[in-house]
Amino acid sequence: MNCPRCGAEIFPGAKYCHKCGSPIDQHPEDVLLVTTPSIPGYRVTRVFGVVTSLVPRTRGFLGKIVAGFQSMVGGEISVFTSELERARMEAMSRLKDKARRMGANAVVGLDLEISDLGLQAGVVIVSATGTAVIVEPESRSP
Ligand SMILES: [Zn+2]
Repeated sequence: MNCPRCGAEIFPGAKYCHKCGSPIDQHPEDVLLVTTPSIPGYRVTRVFGVVTSLVPRTRGFLGKIVAGFQSMVGGEISVFTSELERARMEAMSRLKDKARRMGANAVVGLDLEISDLGLQAGVVIVSATGTAVIVEPESRSP
């Protein structure tokens, strides 16, 4: 990966850029993902633009939903919710990957959508959209 500030290549495991000294987050989970347009306590210092990730689920997925309906107990459709949840997690994790590759450390304005291409097609698409940005804690002055 590269330094989000000066673009210098970062050594694996380094906590600070060896060139400009800015702190580096090298952990995937450190890409913040929020549905709000801003993050309290942080200010956006750079905007990269919109990032989108799509996670299609095909027939197998729908089959599982049907199976879930058939084995429905007490109104709980657990197979449906867990499969969708998995697809959502995957969409969000792909979004983080994309944002990180752009050099962002956060995605704001996250929007998750589930759409189907018609039951005949047997495809359900979970899409995650957001704006890739660089945020810095407000307390840190330039
Ligand atoms: Zn740097």
